[in-house]
Amino acid sequence: MASIPLKSRDSLPPRRGIIFILSAPSGAGKTTIWRAALKAIAGLEFSVSLTTRAPREGEADGIDYSFVSEEEFKRRQSSGELAEWARVFESFYGTPRAPLDAAIASGRDILLDIDIQGARQIRAIYPGDSVAVFVLPPSFAELEGRLRGRATEEESKIQHRLRKARDEAQAYPEYDYLIVNAEVDESVAQLETIVDAERLKVGRLRGEFAPWKS
Ligand code: 5GP
Repeated sequence: MASIPLKSRDSLPPRRGIIFILSAPSGAGKTTIWRAALKAIAGLEFSVSLTTRAPREGEADGIDYSFVSEEEFKRRQSSGELAEWARVFESFYGTPRAPLDAAIASGRDILLDIDIQGARQIRAIYPGDSVAVFVLPPSFAELEGRLRGRATEEESKIQHRLRKARDEAQAYPEYDYLIVNAEVDESVAQLETIVDAERLKVGRLRGEFAPWKS
């Protein structure tokens, strides 16, 4: 019987990097997931956003965010340095474009923790290169508990975040994958499964995905 000519991985063209978007209503546990995911998932980098909000306790400049003034943010935005930006609560947030383009071109995978507005923009700009994952809390009672447990904000802000969280949760059908974050380890394992599956898609391995094909 003739043997089937198998392709070795080396004979395939280099694959492009994948942008993994992670969005969630505030308090769903997304930050905990991405921090654990970066340790657990080999070859996944984090896209450090610009923000005009003040650092929270434990956040480091250049690691969690690049903390900038509103003037600096507007300068970078108007010079086209941002792939997307949005106003969330009272602050501006934006994703630097150059690290995304470099990651895609060199086959490195990059994780974005961005809101729904940002996710829509990234998916429009990088339709074939982005995968969108939504995280929901197991229940809104649990989400309220988590927001209050954070205890970094006054009551009116917590109420505002809760209302916004309920609105934002409605967006999950726009995403490719849904993780219900009951337990962090399990959620990270699910994210790893998503990353592995996307990396193994034949279309990506053959360098066939849109938009560069069409
Ligand atoms: P936080 O201030 O709690 O860190 O983030 C508030 C919201 O802003 C979260 O939903 C987070 O995903 C989102 N966010 C963080 N960075 C960016 C970004 O670069 N672009 C957009 N559009 N949203 C972001």
